[in-house]
Amino acid sequence: MPSTSCSVARSKSQQSSAAKTPLVPVDEFLDQVRRAKDEEQQRRKKDPSLISQLSPSPSSPLTDSFGRFHNYLRISLTERCNLRCVYCMPEEGVELTPESQLLSRGEVARLLELFVRAGVTKVRYTGGEPTVRRDLADIIRHAHSLRGGPFGRGLESVGITTNGIVLGRRLEGLVDAGLTHINISLDTLDSNKFTIMTRRNGWKTVHDAIYKAAALADQSKPDPSDPHQKGLRNVKVNCVVMKGLNDYEVLDFVELTRDLPIIVRFIEYMPFDGNRWSDSKFVPYAEMLDLIRTRYPSVRPEVLEPNHTSKNYMIDGHRGRIGFISSMSDHFCATCNRLRITADGNLKVCLFGAQEVSLRDAMRMGKTDEELSLIIGAAVMKKKARHAGMFQLSQQKNRPMITIGG
Ligand code: SAM
Ligand code: SF4
Repeated sequence: MPSTSCSVARSKSQQSSAAKTPLVPVDEFLDQVRRAKDEEQQRRKKDPSLISQLSPSPSSPLTDSFGRFHNYLRISLTERCNLRCVYCMPEEGVELTPESQLLSRGEVARLLELFVRAGVTKVRYTGGEPTVRRDLADIIRHAHSLRGGPFGRGLESVGITTNGIVLGRRLEGLVDAGLTHINISLDTLDSNKFTIMTRRNGWKTVHDAIYKAAALADQSKPDPSDPHQKGLRNVKVNCVVMKGLNDYEVLDFVELTRDLPIIVRFIEYMPFDGNRWSDSKFVPYAEMLDLIRTRYPSVRPEVLEPNHTSKNYMIDGHRGRIGFISSMSDHFCATCNRLRITADGNLKVCLFGAQEVSLRDAMRMGKTDEELSLIIGAAVMKKKARHAGMFQLSQQKNRPMITIGG
């Protein structure tokens, strides 16, 4: 049975290891939110300068107390996965949430509509592995129906992050449903190393899926004036770099971008519960960039996008580009525009924050869209200015990555 209280709670793993966080009943939570909103409005009336700090949409539930507007939503569709990556999945596996407590397709759709109405323009489905969900194409089709309206600006991009294992078979169907952006994870160009890093076989399948996706993206001709246009616009390859395991392959990955119109993004290894993070396995992005410069002296930064998470670079003569996700050594919290919904329906305002609120419970208690918006707004308001530093993060409790959705 789904819980009937709104869990302004910590993650499952924390609940089991520490004293349980008391669950605040939804109605009590909503009262607190309304009171806080009234007080905030009074403060704004007294000090109009507060309004100009909160741009571009101060009244949106997606604007936090530091003025950051969150237009990018990541929704995890499952905790299941067909790989067991060493940096993501604890060796002993994760305790899966019972199916009945995960968001249904209808609940995912309702939440997405609510967020799009509030101003979200980008959605990315992740997991676990989103392609293990049979209804993924239907979920993408629904997201596509929100492009260019009917609410606000509507969605501008519909993406997935996938390990690529079953992608080859499903790619055309997903693009036909409205998929525009795809991130495929591949950490090594060596099939034996792949088996070590993912604890499963399948390197060639993933490798071939990357080429197939790149070819599809190459064929599509985006028309910015048509918000409903289908076609794959962007292919990225995510590569988590770990010292002594795959760091010596960085240059080989850069070489991939010579002929492929993709962005290879090197991701700093991040600590999550059960992934045995240690600074001896950590490679800061500056070290990777120094190495790349030795072979590609023309490597130079692109102009950063406003809410960049990746620092992108170009190299003369390469069709593709490279990027770095430096969440650990050089965080991008000041411009963070992302919110996450876990597969069990918790809103997580920061990847590294343990505080969560259950939108699933609120929906199953029959709360209206207006009440859900209040809960979302209150959670966003509580978002901290930045996450703790690298070494504190490694000590801090958080869910395993596989149950957050990267
Ligand atoms: N299964 C899909 C995949 O692997 O692409 C989507 C989910 S996965 C959790 C999303 C992304 O998070 C992947 O690119 C993965 O490499 C990245 N990731 C997982 N654990 C990580 C860690 N400890 N540090 C950095 N990136 C991590
Ligand atoms: Fe699965 Fe993705 Fe995590 Fe690897 S990174 S175990 S593919 S969810």
